[in-house]
Amino acid sequence: MLEVRNLDTYYGNIQALHDISLHVEEGEIITLIGANGAGKSTTLMSISGIVPPRKGEILFQGDPIHELPPNHIVSLGICQVPEGRHIFPDLTVAENLDMGAFLRNDKKQIARDLDYLYDLFPILRKRRHQPGGNLSGGEQQMLAISRALMAHPKLLLLDEPSMGLAPLVTRQIFDIIKKINQEQNTTIFLVEQNANLALKVADRGYVLENGHITLHDRADALLANKDVQKAYLGM
Ligand code: ATP
Repeated sequence: MLEVRNLDTYYGNIQALHDISLHVEEGEIITLIGANGAGKSTTLMSISGIVPPRKGEILFQGDPIHELPPNHIVSLGICQVPEGRHIFPDLTVAENLDMGAFLRNDKKQIARDLDYLYDLFPILRKRRHQPGGNLSGGEQQMLAISRALMAHPKLLLLDEPSMGLAPLVTRQIFDIIKKINQEQNTTIFLVEQNANLALKVADRGYVLENGHITLHDRADALLANKDVQKAYLGM
């Protein structure tokens, strides 16, 4: 579904990504783990066109997307839930979800999707008339994921969904990420600092260190890898 080839990405003169290559197959959950500042968010932003790469190629379903603007990339079916959520705080929960569907005009399917998401996150149904800004951090994360899903993405890019959330809420959100992957057949590219949880939910994983991919394996193999355990799993 997605192929990233030899990507170099810069902020001005600072090179954040060095020769990044990775691939995502349809239906998979892929995770990219790494320390603070390793380049995880930059990788997602390069894919979604927010910080375009200076070198390399990104192919989505066989077609190059690395020179396309972000709105075009969204319309192809790639949606990013950014770190820190970025919901619209003054719009209600329902209005935030409407915004997610603004590129669509299949009204009946939109209504069915909304129902599905309200069943997935009953708290959002309960709070649908409240401003997004009044929700708790976990609820805002649920809203941000749901808003992205309203666009009916083929590939969902999730940037640190566990950021700032209590362990119980984090676990709930990860269970739902797995459910969305299985029930909606949404392919998921998950960036996480909580490597333990991410590797438990993912099929495969990549380890990013200082802008370089240093390891790539099945998620269960990474969980059993002594170096990964020492560096990222606190063992
Ligand atoms: P975190 O887990 O802390 O979010 P990360 O792995 O997502 O980290 P990035 O945010 O992608 O890492 O940052 C990669 C590198 O690029 C870091 O050295 C960071 O300081 C730098 N960087 C990120 N954003 C900018 C920016 N807007 N301008 C300049 N440098 C930046």
